[in-house]
Amino acid sequence: MKFSRMFLPTLKEAPSDAEIVSHMLMIRAGMIRKIAAGIYNYLPMGLKVIKKVENIVREEMNKAGAQEVSMPIVVPSELWQESGRWDIYGKELLRIKDRHQRNFCLGPTHEEVVTEMVRKEVRSYKELPLNIYQIQTKFRDEIRPRFGLMRGREFIMKDAYSFHATEEDAEREYQNMYDTYCRIFERCGLKFRAVEAETGAIGGRFSHEFMVLADTGEDSIASCNKCSYAANVERAETKMQGSGVRGLPSNVSIGGQGSEKERPLEKVSTPGMKTVEEVSGFLKTTPQKLMKTLIYNSDKGVVAALVRGDYELNESKLKRLLDAQWLNLADEETVRKTTNAPSGFAGPVGLKDRGQGAGVRGLPPQSLSGGQNNTNLKIFADYNVQTIVNGITGANEADAHFINVNIDRDFTIDSYADLRIAADGDLCPRCDGVLKIFRGIEVGHVFKLGTKYSEAMDATFLNEKGQGKPMIMGCYGIGIGRTAAASIEQNHDEKGIIWPMPLAPFHVHLIPVNVKDKPTMDVAESIYKNLMNAGLDVLMDDRDERAGIKFNDADLIGIPIRLTIGSKALKENSVELKMRNAADASLIKIDDVSKKVLEIIEQADRVGVITATRLP
Ligand code: ATP
Ligand code: MG
Repeated sequence: MKFSRMFLPTLKEAPSDAEIVSHMLMIRAGMIRKIAAGIYNYLPMGLKVIKKVENIVREEMNKAGAQEVSMPIVVPSELWQESGRWDIYGKELLRIKDRHQRNFCLGPTHEEVVTEMVRKEVRSYKELPLNIYQIQTKFRDEIRPRFGLMRGREFIMKDAYSFHATEEDAEREYQNMYDTYCRIFERCGLKFRAVEAETGAIGGRFSHEFMVLADTGEDSIASCNKCSYAANVERAETKMQGSGVRGLPSNVSIGGQGSEKERPLEKVSTPGMKTVEEVSGFLKTTPQKLMKTLIYNSDKGVVAALVRGDYELNESKLKRLLDAQWLNLADEETVRKTTNAPSGFAGPVGLKDRGQGAGVRGLPPQSLSGGQNNTNLKIFADYNVQTIVNGITGANEADAHFINVNIDRDFTIDSYADLRIAADGDLCPRCDGVLKIFRGIEVGHVFKLGTKYSEAMDATFLNEKGQGKPMIMGCYGIGIGRTAAASIEQNHDEKGIIWPMPLAPFHVHLIPVNVKDKPTMDVAESIYKNLMNAGLDVLMDDRDERAGIKFNDADLIGIPIRLTIGSKALKENSVELKMRNAADASLIKIDDVSKKVLEIIEQADRVGVITATRLP
């Protein structure tokens, strides 16, 4: 391709809404342009990279035995009603009506459509297993589209779905896809980790996210410094040291706050002090003394959850503990009804006695008044809360807290569980190593669905005994645009993108310095032809521009191999070769150019091939 003919509008500055480097560089390098929030045009340079990612994904999926199909983007609501998701998917689902007022949605994911496709055709176990995939545009009306292609509303996803007659076969395919994903992301040249992920209501160990390590990632990963344990912090288990805690396995224990003596419960005034920092600062103590009490609303009712002040509550863990479909931090009205106080002053002491006129042991009855009957309200606590002696909690009253709160003496807990978010320095739940927290970008997700969709949508087959059974399903997604963006997050410098060879839009960037010089252009044209004939993607900057401008654009666009044709080197029958990821250039003879370039590319491709890792 000749630069002068290419639709490649590079920019000196990025627009102000570009917050992360991949977004800025994709705009500046003329890859994408915004049409609306989270909706982009892919310009030729951007689309070339997208196609490179797609092709790697396609090759590896085909090799793994999956078959490519194409499903519609516009999906009739009836299918989503059958699965039950029409009513619960929420606002991310863009719903539309046709001219007959029939409801449709733009597909955010295609479990329903693929299940419909397969249930109509497959009758017997002999036709299973199947793994069907597509690479297609998805639409999700994300609440905060941002970071360019990283979190778009319209984006390209590879989504695969597998169907099986037995659990064992579904697990075999899960491993097959896990290995395939490892190969895909290795071939893309990414530094990544497969981590255990939240499975929601389905449970089991069968969900892994593929995380590209990057400080700008929206996800946090806990990873052991000794063993292979790695998990999304939404999922990561915690383990504690010490001894004598109820509800903990006997080999796991935690230390209390020394031999501190229990002191009498006391209510103190804490005007306007709501956060852990405000309260602990005001009362001149540490966050470790606070029993942070959070009120949650869920389909299983209102619950209270306690976590030590220096930790964060993990909503996914609480949701799993309750086996709830949904769970939200309670709104102000629910908090008031439940605790009789504005949010920020909730506490477990006397919480269950609200509205019964009962007092708190050791305190006059009038200190609690009104409110609803909470006798059925359950109080859950993270294991660590048990370490607190003479703790501090809200007093269920505006501008007041209790001090010297002690569990069992002042209130009881219904159940202890691992309810907190894993933190840097926590002990590994699998070995004696220590967890470190990293930021990551989720580029892929493999998931065992089980029979959730096949049961709801009646996708059955006849087994060997002639009995009708629901198919066992798995699903496997990769964000194509997000993968390209993640690659830029890992491969750039202050001048621009540094494409790894497998994703590079072109292999070679040819720069004739002076396009008005005939000998220069003769050599440039001949190298250009030879490389193209060798099957390479070549961009030749034939613009009549200053060398500085051409070099800046070359650094910005980030093509791996740069060949500069200047009059000085030409005198020695040479051209200058510089790799985008290296500081120095070298001279090579014109006759050797094709051979050398092909060597470099072949080597770069070899680096991208690995043997798949097994599941930890
Ligand atoms: P996230 O937690 O980032 O919203 P998700 O769990 O909703 O992701 P999946 O439903 O598993 O994502 O989709 C499969 C893949 O599609 C993800 O691993 C990700 O790479 C990609 N993806 C999801 N949402 C977006 C988006 N808004 N923009 C770009 N890619 C996306
Ligand atoms: Mg999402």
